[in-house]
Amino acid sequence: EQDAQYLVSKIRTIPGFPKEGIVFRDFLPLMADAKAFSIMIDALEKTLPVPVDDIDYIAGLEARGFLVGPPLAARLGKGFLAVRKAGKLPPETLKENYSLEYGDAAIEIEQGIIRPGDTVLVVDDLVATGGTAQAATDLIRRAGGQVVGFSFVMELVGTDGMKKLGELPTTSLLTMP
Ligand code: IMP
Repeated sequence: EQDAQYLVSKIRTIPGFPKEGIVFRDFLPLMADAKAFSIMIDALEKTLPVPVDDIDYIAGLEARGFLVGPPLAARLGKGFLAVRKAGKLPPETLKENYSLEYGDAAIEIEQGIIRPGDTVLVVDDLVATGGTAQAATDLIRRAGGQVVGFSFVMELVGTDGMKKLGELPTTSLLTMP
């Protein structure tokens, strides 16, 4: 509980970014604070939504999932898969289009990096609508992988993200108003 409060104290809140009406939660100050960074990785390890032996890979979503995923993967002794925004990876890739609240987006993974039946835990800094994590799940499934759960640093209250992903085990460290 004290640890959670310490982590929350390191989240920066920016009203009106990147657009009017959005309250942006920035966890970079948490990453910059050695104690908070260490608490965060410890907590993600302790609250894994599935047993560690059930996970083959940690997948992180660009860009902030690239900050959380690799240290967690190294801690757990797992490989890391980068789920990139479309257009960044050299071919051949698998691509998934999805809709955001305003407009469309697409993500990609390297083709052939996942073998049939590989199990994957998806991580990101924050879940709001769950649309991004769902798109990553669809992409990993199409590649033959099996998403076994999700770990997030922050969950926005009043959004349906955790519910949407609810059929799979999901954890978040901090619930943000
Ligand atoms: P969702 O797809 O609506 O769940 O939005 C989650 C995605 O958008 C994640 O990849 C987040 O990194 C990003 N995101 C949305 N809101 C915020 C925020 O307030 N702070 C940081 N990232 C955010």
